[in-house]
Amino acid sequence: MEVFISLRSLAGLLLWALVPAPVQPATPPQRSGVTILYDAFGDRPGLSRDWGFAALVEYGGKRVLFDTGNNAHVFARNARALHVDLRSIDFVVVSHRHGDHTAGLNYLLQINPKVKIYVPKEGFGVFGAALPGSFFRTDSALPVRMRYFAGVPPEELRFGTAWPGANFTWVEGQTEVAPGFFLVSTVSKTPGTLELHELSLVIRTPRGLVVLVGCSHPGIQTILEATRGVGEHVHLIMGGLHLVNTPDPEIQRVVGSLDHDWQVDLIAPGHCTGEPAFAALQRAFGRRYRYAGLGTFVDLEEPE
Ligand SMILES: [Zn+2]
Ligand SMILES: [Zn+2]
Repeated sequence: MEVFISLRSLAGLLLWALVPAPVQPATPPQRSGVTILYDAFGDRPGLSRDWGFAALVEYGGKRVLFDTGNNAHVFARNARALHVDLRSIDFVVVSHRHGDHTAGLNYLLQINPKVKIYVPKEGFGVFGAALPGSFFRTDSALPVRMRYFAGVPPEELRFGTAWPGANFTWVEGQTEVAPGFFLVSTVSKTPGTLELHELSLVIRTPRGLVVLVGCSHPGIQTILEATRGVGEHVHLIMGGLHLVNTPDPEIQRVVGSLDHDWQVDLIAPGHCTGEPAFAALQRAFGRRYRYAGLGTFVDLEEPE
């Protein structure tokens, strides 16, 4: 009898261990700031530097993942080392289609397969697309076997994505995705990334706009022009400014414009901003420069 009871309680214990713990609703973040999860510079121990960008935004009770880095394993390692629970994020923004911003999606989707992911709307891109079935010119004189869909195309044609099953929302123009959180879409006119669509995250704060950029392929000034519909004053710019191989005079022109024309309060550059531009921005902004290496938490409510 005794053996029977202990076997029963053992079975109960095993069952209890197999039942997953109830999922607790994620508590909203208590702090306001941006943590750099992926970049190629920084000295914080336990993190892996690599070319690419990802950041966690905590603001106004929301947790937002911006970009996912260049390698799913490195992204996973850094997120774990920084105690970022990717199941608790409210939504994701992927700035553009380049691999150094998208590769971590493969890990993210393992952890949180249904999470809402905002991506730039592009025709026939890696995030998929849709067009009306009437997008092509027709020739009804052709025999049916030479006509697309035998002359009867579906109402809508969907095009494939590298991440089928991902909960993508395609964004163009400007859209408010949560109270005070805006996405602005811009298009690159630069040879090499011509017609690349890029999303930037713009947060309306009492101090002005916080603008988070992935690579700024369309140019940081073009992106700032696009934020004018959200607010007047730019408080902080974070992320990649893509001046990585830009000659010094052009760097000086951009830095001067951010400082004097745009009167940006704070700058926290990272990723493809480039070493000479880090130096030029630090010279120009002085105490208004915020270091944002891998693992850094940039406080959005630090005392002024
Ligand atoms: Zn890029
Ligand atoms: Zn990049």
